[in-house]
Amino acid sequence: MGLTHDGARGLQVESVALEDIAERFGTPCYVYSRLALTAAYVGYRNALQAHGLGDRALVCYAVKANSNLAILNLFARLGAGFDIVSGGELARVLAAGGSADKIVFSGVGKSREEMRAALEAGIHCFNVESTGELEQLNEVAGSLDRRAPVSLRVNPDVDAKTHPYISTGLKTAKFGVAFDQAFDTYRRAASLPHLAVKGIDCHIGSQLLDPAPAAEAADKVLGLVDRLAATGIVLEHIDLGGGMGIQYRREEPAPATADYLAPMLVKFASRRESLIFEPGRSLVGNAGLLLTRVQVLKPGAEKHFAVVDAAMNDMMRPALYDAWHDIVPVATVGAGAAAMPYEIVGPVCESGDFLGHDRSLALQEGDLLAILSAGAYGMAMASNYNSRPRAAEVMVDGDAMHLIRRRENVAELFALESVLP
Ligand SMILES: *Cc1c(COP(=O)(O)O)cnc(C)c1O
Repeated sequence: MGLTHDGARGLQVESVALEDIAERFGTPCYVYSRLALTAAYVGYRNALQAHGLGDRALVCYAVKANSNLAILNLFARLGAGFDIVSGGELARVLAAGGSADKIVFSGVGKSREEMRAALEAGIHCFNVESTGELEQLNEVAGSLDRRAPVSLRVNPDVDAKTHPYISTGLKTAKFGVAFDQAFDTYRRAASLPHLAVKGIDCHIGSQLLDPAPAAEAADKVLGLVDRLAATGIVLEHIDLGGGMGIQYRREEPAPATADYLAPMLVKFASRRESLIFEPGRSLVGNAGLLLTRVQVLKPGAEKHFAVVDAAMNDMMRPALYDAWHDIVPVATVGAGAAAMPYEIVGPVCESGDFLGHDRSLALQEGDLLAILSAGAYGMAMASNYNSRPRAAEVMVDGDAMHLIRRRENVAELFALESVLP
């Protein structure tokens, strides 16, 4: 994410020292790089262009990965569309200046209110996941005297070989229409008067590092598209979802965007449908870090603990998925202490509240640490558990730092509550 080490100023994002951000905005604090966000998006556009698909492909950023308005606005300015999963995300995208006609609406349980709001906004397409949803959407569209554009999310039953919580394309997943029922479900959709069948959609999982499962899913989807066309159901677009993985550990590099996408994109050169991708993590993950300060060092009988001021409520991924994030010191090394293995933990009252196990670091109380690759599913999953105000968020742009979400204060945490009369 354009991280550099400057001898005197320590770790920098673009041209801004993390020390300066901590001093000005406090910790814990999420820090994003405009340059890195832009580069990630441009990586998709360039790959599409290189395969001659620039004019008929839409990159719909999956809002759930990080829904800060400034990030949505940045992608909107770059020309991105958006993949949303709730009415709340719809409102965010519109507030951030995203255009409704580039929004696709995913999710296994849309409410009628959400369907109505999205129809009134005029979104590009609903990614529908069941026959029941088709029928409900048909009713809602009818009540508004409209036709809802739909694609079916099919479940291609390929093994994405990722963490079970983020694998979505197996038969056993709650997501999508089973592949062998998809044909009949399309016929049902085509028979409903207030639906317009537009496309097909699949999303097999997240943090995928091997392009083969996604390419296999694309083959299955294309086979179904051709069978449907033979019966007169001609689709305009094919949405291959998101899921491309990013680098979390120094030793485990992720594929370049162009290399990951190529096995899918080559299949589209000779086709006429337009293409949609729904990347979340790969657009924001490596463009953000979580800045935190060591509160206290606590030597234990078997393990040494470094208690930092960020916790599982700020960053859930380690506790939830046992996820690894590289953790690096902000100051230039060697402030006196010797490196030793630390458990990097937060102040929350849960043994699962850790950010990293067994990290070899030279630490002193008061040191700043950067938890890397925290731009995706970091702040988006943050909570107020233990009545902890959520962290501030800052966007670096060259030598400027912009506060894009101020730190919550404690009074705000119970402002919506009331005691009994
Ligand atoms: C979460 C999700 C995405 C984004 O996944 P990433 O792994 O972050 O790229 C895309 N599409 C759907 C339907 C999703 O649920």
